[in-house]
Amino acid sequence: MRVFISVDMEGIVGVVSLKHVISDSKEYERARKWMTLEVKAAVEALQETGAEKIVVADSHGSMINLLIEELPEYVDVVTGFPRATCMVAYIDKGFDTALFLGYHSKKGTIHSILDHTISGSTIQRIKINGFEVSEFWLNAAVAGYYNVPISLVTGDDKLIEHAKNTVPNIETIVTKYALGRRAALTKHPKTIEKEIRKAVPKAIEKVKKKQVASFKPQPPFNVELEFTDSTMADVAELIPNVKRIQGNIVGYTAQDIVEAYKLMEALIIMAIGILKR
Ligand SMILES: [Zn+2]
Repeated sequence: MRVFISVDMEGIVGVVSLKHVISDSKEYERARKWMTLEVKAAVEALQETGAEKIVVADSHGSMINLLIEELPEYVDVVTGFPRATCMVAYIDKGFDTALFLGYHSKKGTIHSILDHTISGSTIQRIKINGFEVSEFWLNAAVAGYYNVPISLVTGDDKLIEHAKNTVPNIETIVTKYALGRRAALTKHPKTIEKEIRKAVPKAIEKVKKKQVASFKPQPPFNVELEFTDSTMADVAELIPNVKRIQGNIVGYTAQDIVEAYKLMEALIIMAIGILKR
C-alpha cells in the first residue's frame, strides 16, 4: 500500500488561535509539535499495516512546519512553497490512498476554527459549477483525478460533517468541537494520537475492500474566484481566458480539475503579490 498524507494546521488538536498558525509566535512552536505528533501517529500506524511507501505533504502557510527530524526515517516529506497542486503536490506519482490531517472548513462556515478557503487575506469564496467549495473538496478532487481515494480525515466537528457529506464512508476523527471561529472544546493531543492509531488500520482496510471511492466531480469546471478586493481581480483578468464577472469576481473554464486548481493557485499568488504593493 502506497499512502499519501496532506497535513494542514487549523484542524490540528489544540489549535484555535491565529497565534497557533502564524510562524512568528511562541504558540506556533507548540502547535507545530502537535501537528508533527498527529503525523507521527499516522505514519507509525501505517507502517504497522505494512505500508510500502509513505509520503507526507506539509501543507500549511509556507509549508515548512513539520519537525521532520522527529518523524520516522521511512517517511519522505514534500516541503516548501510554491508548488504545483499545492496541498496535494506529488500525489500524481502513484498512491493507493490519501489521508487528510488537520483540515478546516471553507470561509463563512458558522462556528468553525479559523475557517478560510486557500487564502484568508485574498479569497472570499470559490465556486465550481455554481457550488461553493472548500480546500477539502478541491484537494479530494485532485486526488480523485489521479484515482486516489481519501480514506481518513481529521479536523474540527464542522469540517468532519462536510467531509462525510463529500466522501461517503470516509474514516473521520473530530479533534475539537468549535464554539466559534477562535474557540473550541479540544481533545487532548494524546487522545488524538490514540484515535489516529485506531482509525488508520480501519481506513486501510476500507481501501483494500474498495469501500471508499475516489472523489471525481465531472468536468468541465466553471470556476469563479471571489476576491476580498477588486484590485486582485484587476490583475487576474490580465491572464488569457480569465473573465471579469463582477468588481471582485473573475471566472474561467477548465477541462480538468488539475488545470482548474493550478490556475486558481497562480491567481491567488498574484493576488497576494498585489496585496503587498
Ligand atoms: Zn492552513
